[in-house]
Amino acid sequence: MHHHHITPIGEIHTPFQQKFAIPRQPNLANALGQITFNAEIFHPEMLRGIEQFSHLWLVFIFHQTLDRGFKPLVKAPRLGGNRKTGVFASRSTHRPNNLGLSVVKNAGIATINGETVLHVRGVDILHGTPLVDIKPYLPYADCISEAREQLTLAADIPSRNVQFSEGATNTLAKFVGRYPDLHELIVDVLKQDPRPAYKQKEHSDPKIYKVQLYHFDIHWMVTDAEVVVTDIVELSSQP
Ligand code: SAH
Repeated sequence: MHHHHITPIGEIHTPFQQKFAIPRQPNLANALGQITFNAEIFHPEMLRGIEQFSHLWLVFIFHQTLDRGFKPLVKAPRLGGNRKTGVFASRSTHRPNNLGLSVVKNAGIATINGETVLHVRGVDILHGTPLVDIKPYLPYADCISEAREQLTLAADIPSRNVQFSEGATNTLAKFVGRYPDLHELIVDVLKQDPRPAYKQKEHSDPKIYKVQLYHFDIHWMVTDAEVVVTDIVELSSQP
C-alpha cells in the first residue's frame, strides 16, 4: 500500500476551546467558524463561485486525538453502557487517519486585515483544527431523503430550557457588541445538556460545570431539568 501525504489547506477558528460540550454533529448549534488558509497552497481564486452554494463539506483532522490511535470497536456511551459498534459504523473521532467530515452553512467570504477568511456556521469542530479540504454540498446527490439510521437517534439529544442568572445576563450585556451571538451560542450548546450520558438522567445535579466558549468560562448547573447559567467569566481580554 502507498502512503499518502496530506498538507492542510488551512485551519478553522471556532468558539470551542476544548472538546467538552462541542455538539456531537454539525448544525446542532449555530456556532461560527472562520477558516484561514495556508499561504503555501492558497490562492483566492480557489474560492471563486463558492457563494453559489449554501452549504459546504469540511474535511478535517481530529488533531487533538491523533495520538490516541484507534480500535476496531468503539464504545457508544449514548447507546447505554457497554454496547460497541465498529469504528466504520460510527462517527468516533478515534479512527484510522483521523479524518472528520462536517456539513456546514456557507456564511460568506470576508477579508480581515488583508487576509481571505471563509465564514461558516454550525460547526462541531475544535478551535485550531487543521482543514484538509472544502467541497460544495450538492443537494441533488448528497441529500438522500430515504436515508435511515437506527443507531444514534437524534431524538435522544436533550433540549432543555436554559436560564441565565442576573450576573450572567449582565456579563452578556457587557459583551453583546463584540460577541453578538454569545447568548444564542450558550443556549444552543447547553440546551443539549453536555453532561455525560449517565448524568443526563439526573434532573437536579448540584455540580457546577464549566465550559469555555471563545475566551469565556461559562459556569452552569442543572436544576429541575433546566440548565441554569450561574456565571460567565472573561478569561482574558483577547480570544
Ligand atoms: N461531524 C464530524 C465530527 C463528529 S464527532 C464527523 O462526523 O466526522 C464531533 C466531536 O468531535 C465533537 O464533539 C468534538 O469533541 C470532536 N472534535 C472536534 N474537533 C476535533 C479535533 N480537532 N480533534 C479531536 N476531536 C475533535
